[in-house]
Amino acid sequence: MNPNKNTTEYWFTIDPYVYVCLTDTCTLLYNTLDGVTIESDKVEVLGLIRELLIQEKFGVILLSEKRFMQKDINDFIREIREKYMGDVIDVKLSNGKPIQLMPYFNYSSDKLDVYKKLNSPPEKNALENLFEISIHVDDSTDLTKLIPFLQAFPGNLSYNIMGNIWEVKNHDELLSFLDQLASPKTVICSYLYVTPEQLSCESNFLHRIIVDFPVDMLRWNEIMQIVASQASPVEYVFNISSKEEYFQAEQLAEQFQIEKYQMTPVYNGDNIEFFEENVFITKEDILSTPISIKDIFSRQAMNMHDFGKINIMPNGDAYANVNHPALGNVYKQSLAEIVGKEMTEGQSWFRIRNQEPCNGCIYQWLCPSPSDYEIVIGRPNLCHVKRDK
Ligand code: SF4
Repeated sequence: MNPNKNTTEYWFTIDPYVYVCLTDTCTLLYNTLDGVTIESDKVEVLGLIRELLIQEKFGVILLSEKRFMQKDINDFIREIREKYMGDVIDVKLSNGKPIQLMPYFNYSSDKLDVYKKLNSPPEKNALENLFEISIHVDDSTDLTKLIPFLQAFPGNLSYNIMGNIWEVKNHDELLSFLDQLASPKTVICSYLYVTPEQLSCESNFLHRIIVDFPVDMLRWNEIMQIVASQASPVEYVFNISSKEEYFQAEQLAEQFQIEKYQMTPVYNGDNIEFFEENVFITKEDILSTPISIKDIFSRQAMNMHDFGKINIMPNGDAYANVNHPALGNVYKQSLAEIVGKEMTEGQSWFRIRNQEPCNGCIYQWLCPSPSDYEIVIGRPNLCHVKRDK
């Protein structure tokens, strides 16, 4: 109802599929259906959005005609309407205040603490959050201890075996144990150690062959022959630390008609320029593909690279991320205890962009979760949007 019949007032609202971000100096409206954005740093617009985001307003605020006609606000609203991201309705044409269901993220770090307490002891439901185990192997791996431990695991996990499985005493036992499981299984191994037996005997395994430079061409040619004579699914990961290595990897892929491969940049302490050129993201990179509301909320809650994953080292030490401290040892603690520790005290699964400078950036939750590169390089943000001060 219009309290003053002589002036026009408007209900202003943003559509529920529009993600709204506000910092002290800027606001971003992001249409999660098509990735279209509106940005503004106008003081009046920031005030408008600040008011709109008050939860009690339910995503609808009343605009006086004077405020509606203010140039910055009027331009902003016109752009919102043109991009189908919201609307203004003459109060006289509305039967009371419209209702808008704004997509608030309702899982603050405080709530996470509550969640952790509710799930006390933390290991109670911890395994529900686990979906991938990476088993790092070498000649010290003791399968007489490891396999009984794996037998107690939930049945729905994915497994990676990382390292030279052929160094492990009685490795067949590990492979046949995993082979019985319906779960996805991947053997991740340097091209230097791949053998014909490896590719022939484990048909239920995907083989991911890691290629570091410089490539030993004699060994590489052997691998190509081995792979060509087997039916096992194989994909390649070229670890590259420079443009030259990138071109060499491309050449190898083309020459040997490799279809499934990826390039993984490797930081060697001396190639930050390579990273700045090829890995650091730009605003255009961030906005290049539409991001769903679900993904935006997931990035606010958890690290999308690490969540649900545990690494087990040859000595039994367990890590959520090998760049962070160990959570325990699988020969001394149960998996539930280890996962519970990550849920309550860990640094990996919940490592999100909540620190400087990301916490003051309008792309905070559109940006991918922090990766291992941030840890290894020692910077919280690898982007061209906000540079180190
Ligand atoms: S400052 Fe952080 S959130 Fe902003 S673009 Fe850079 S990495 Fe992404």
